[in-house]
Order: sequence, then C-alpha cells, then structure tokens
Amino acid sequence: MQIGAGAKRPLPRPGAPAKRPDMACGTLTIDLDAIRANWSALAHASGGAEAGAVIKADAYGLGADTVGKALVSTGARRFFVALAEEGAALRDALGEAPDIYIFSGHMAGDTAILRGANLIPLLNSAGQLSRHRDALPGHPFGIQLDTGMNRLGLEEADWRAMAAEVLAEKPQLIMSHLACADEPDHPMNAAQLAAFRRMSDGTGVPRSLSATGGILLGPDFHFDVTRPGIGLYGGLPFAEAAPVVRLSLPVIQTRDVAAGETVGYGNTWTAAAPARIATLAAGYADGLIRAMTGRAKIFAGDTLCPLAGRVSMDMMGVDVTHLAQVPDALDIICPQQGVDALAEAAGTIGYEILTSLGHRYRRTYMGAV
Ligand SMILES: *Cc1c(COP(=O)(O)O)cnc(C)c1O
Repeated sequence: MQIGAGAKRPLPRPGAPAKRPDMACGTLTIDLDAIRANWSALAHASGGAEAGAVIKADAYGLGADTVGKALVSTGARRFFVALAEEGAALRDALGEAPDIYIFSGHMAGDTAILRGANLIPLLNSAGQLSRHRDALPGHPFGIQLDTGMNRLGLEEADWRAMAAEVLAEKPQLIMSHLACADEPDHPMNAAQLAAFRRMSDGTGVPRSLSATGGILLGPDFHFDVTRPGIGLYGGLPFAEAAPVVRLSLPVIQTRDVAAGETVGYGNTWTAAAPARIATLAAGYADGLIRAMTGRAKIFAGDTLCPLAGRVSMDMMGVDVTHLAQVPDALDIICPQQGVDALAEAAGTIGYEILTSLGHRYRRTYMGAV
C-alpha cells in the first residue's frame, strides 16, 4: 500500500472484531512461574540464609517491575540493582515493603534518589562513606568489601582502619562478590571466603557473599543473605534451572531460490540445490548478534532450520526447504536451544544474551504476577 498524499487509509470499521494485527516484532515469552520456581529452588539451596533477588538491568532484560512483583508474591524481601535510578523505578513498582540495595553505592548525584525512594546504597569506598554521612546522616547503608576481585569495595587495610567507626553506625549488610564462583574447584573461591571471614567475622552485621554460583558452592558460602540473579532467569551455572524464556520471530516473507543463488549481505550463503528461504524479523539490533551467523539454530517446533546468510540488523534468513509448511513464526530461544546453548553458538554467555535482548520484542508473561 502506498502511503502519502491522497492515499486512502482504511478506517477501522466500528464493531469489527478486535483482532491483533499481524506484526513484525518478535515475541519474548517470559514464564513467571518458572522464575518463581527457580527462586524457590535457590532459596532452598541457600539453606538457612535468606535469598534475595538480583534484578538489575531490568531483571536481565526480562522486566524488573513484573519480575519483582512476581518474586514479592513468592516471598522475596530483598532486591539488588546496580543503579539508584533502577532502585527508584523498582520502589514505584513494589511499594514500601521490600529492601532495595544499590550495588554502585552512593554517587554524588544519587542523594535525592536514595532518600526519596528509601534505597540502601552498598558503600564501596572511604569517599562514598563520608559522602553518605554528610548527605544522608542516619539513612540506612551497607558495606561492600573487596576480597580479591578488584572491582568494587573497600580493601582490607582501609576497612580495618575504619571498621570500628563504621560498625558503630550499624550497617544493614556487609557484602562481597566472588570472581570465580562458576568454577567450583577454582582456588580463588576459598581465598575469597577466607578474606571475607577475616574482614567480617565478629561484626554482628548480616553478611552476603554469594550470587547464583556461590549458592551452589555450599553452606560455607551462604552466610545470612544470598543474591541470586542469572539462576532466576534460567541460566548457568544453575544447571537445574527451569527454562524461563521463549523467543519467537515472525516470518515476514518466504521465497524460493534456485541452485547457485545467494542469500544476504556478502553473498556468504549459496543454495546448493533449489531451496526455500524464510526471512525472520529480528537481527543484531535486537540482541541476536552477528556472531550467531552460521552457528545459531532456528526451530520450527522440533525441526531444526539452519540460518542462511549473515544475520543483519533487523532480519535473518533461514533455510526452511525441508518444512512441509512454514509456520507464522520460528523460535530462536526455546527448549531445543536454551539461552546458554544460543550463547555458546555466539561465543558468549547467557547473561549477555539475556541483557542484550532489545526493546523491539513484545514481552508477554506466562503465569500470574
Ligand atoms: C550481578 C550480581 C549478582 C548476581 O549474580 P548472578 O551470577 O547473576 O547470580 C550478585 N552480586 C553482585 C555484586 C552482582 O554484581
């Protein structure tokens, strides 16, 4: 249809049945019951420790408001995000009851947000501590210790010099983070555990060391509060996780190509025999990165359909020659190819696949909030 001067657009007929138009955006289906089941399993695996939930980066791309509400209904009471702005949005969604912690601590521009949304910054340097005291005296805070990852947190000598003074101000939580928890035999785990104990034994403050990987290392690593993230969303290292995400991509067009014809940028795929190619409506701008070219699998139900040609910005070609009928949409994340399998095909990790899923998908939720 031509759109422009004089083009007549059909008006919706009054009384026409409410039918969703066919759209080119993909559908990301997020199973809230699976997220709840994963949280409960990791809470159970945390033994006597209380499981919080890490829902930074919009709950790893799956929607922090909805995921947060679903986890509150299952019993989560402590949430962790990276930025104060994320915490404020979460406070609006979840109400006053849950504790919301901020991994980046208290940056100079954060004061009004931390106060207004009643967020708990996890202070990570002497500078942040004095800023917090000056700007928000009496406002709750936690402490982040560096036990060897050298990313965030007070180093041992600095902490020793100020511990007595800080402890007198009654922090809500003392935490650190493990660098190698997804490798159970890595000596770094024991080294960080020992450092964390040295720095926090006898403080009387609730302690937190473990994310998903640390929970699976066993009771020594649990302390009082655990911080699962990726495991909630069905990702490794929580191998027993229930799958959470399905990603279906609509077929925009199907075409027959003759032997010798090529598909996509750079002519990298050539039909060896007459073939049928479906063009799907998603590409690297939607987090389906170019490195998936020739390696990721596409599924029509149980039937594997190989990619044909390079993944481009908004589209990718798929060889559907062997399908008796081409469905309206094909899957790229599904039980046959989970988030981690897709990540492996692309040379990355499940975390990056999830957090890169773009904003152009229609996000639909299974299960009640
Ligand atoms: C992201 C993050 C977590 C959650 O880690 P997962 O591996 O996703 O479970 C926990 N703690 C900190 C400090 C983090 O940055």
